[in-house]
Amino acid sequence: MRTLVASAWFDGERYRATPVSIVVEGARIAAVVEGGQAIAGPATRCAFAMPGLVDAHCHLFLDGGELDFKVRSRYQEAPLEQMIEVGRDNVARTLSRGITLVRDAGDRYGVNHAIRSESKALEVRSAGEALRRPGRYGSFMAREVANDDEIRAAVRDIARSCDDLKIIETGIIDFESGSVKGAPQFDLESLRLVVRCAREQGIRTFAHCSGAEGIAVAVEAGIDSIEHGFFMTEDLLRRMAGQGTAWVPTFSPVHFQWLRPEAAGWGPETVLKLAAILESHREYVARAVQLGVDLVAGSDAGSPGVEHGAGLIDELRRLLECGLSMEQTLRAATSLPRRLWRAESADIRPGALANLTLFGADPFQDPANLLRVSEAVRGAGWSRASVSP
Ligand SMILES: [Zn+2]
Repeated sequence: MRTLVASAWFDGERYRATPVSIVVEGARIAAVVEGGQAIAGPATRCAFAMPGLVDAHCHLFLDGGELDFKVRSRYQEAPLEQMIEVGRDNVARTLSRGITLVRDAGDRYGVNHAIRSESKALEVRSAGEALRRPGRYGSFMAREVANDDEIRAAVRDIARSCDDLKIIETGIIDFESGSVKGAPQFDLESLRLVVRCAREQGIRTFAHCSGAEGIAVAVEAGIDSIEHGFFMTEDLLRRMAGQGTAWVPTFSPVHFQWLRPEAAGWGPETVLKLAAILESHREYVARAVQLGVDLVAGSDAGSPGVEHGAGLIDELRRLLECGLSMEQTLRAATSLPRRLWRAESADIRPGALANLTLFGADPFQDPANLLRVSEAVRGAGWSRASVSP
């Protein structure tokens, strides 16, 4: 038994600027007592404590720090062992930022499953391989399905080992034209079939989609979570709120292209398009929260310029820029995704899993303090985080 004394804390739902004593026994929280006394066993003190962070959208096999597009495309031919090494480095980066659960949003090579089976400190939900239509966007992360029989067989096969089923519903954004490339990959009938097959296997679905047309098909088909969701509309948000469709808006990859246009070779006109896309996205994210949409934080780490770990902290800053409170922002990266995924709660309350991140300063006083992770408590283990400033 040991006691963690924090000067301020966020329990997964609410912030309190008063001291708390959290007694940890084995892998669980035995007691949570307001006040700052050491109740049982040796005491660890910190400025701020909260549940371990969750990144709802990342690609563990990709190095987000690699900006050379030629190197990135050559990497797709790299031996599996090299990709797994990249995945391991990404796990270390993720943990160093106080993240204890990630959802991998797909890779064709199985690195996500391999990392899931070997990783202990970091819990990994893995999509395995996603689904896409032949010849369409998503070759690095998805399997092609041409017809209904192939959909049925692929969902059955992928569901054997995945935690959630990922579907590539649309192409990516063409930043030069400021629109989404191509028509949606799956029409409503096919996507309904995907969702039905997944539900028969007890699997939740999440869809890569941007553009009102593709998002509308995904929402109508009953997809559980819209990933990216650029070019959102008010009407779609209302439907999502009404039927409990989550949204993971992944600002970070687009924000990086806006911030560092030279990395992708964008000229001033494209930079203006990027700025407009981001501005509209901020407005709809703020509106989503007002309407009660389940908004979840995900970085899309592994995308160019989005590093694992740091990417989620950047994403939280983007959510704050939408006007969300720090409580709303941290809920989107702690209690909410765990509840939606029916993962065990890591909220700070008696009986819950001890799955905590400790900070050297309180992020409610200054969001920059989100970078000051000092220690992580995961199950019965305590570890000092190796955090670069
Ligand atoms: Zn992604």
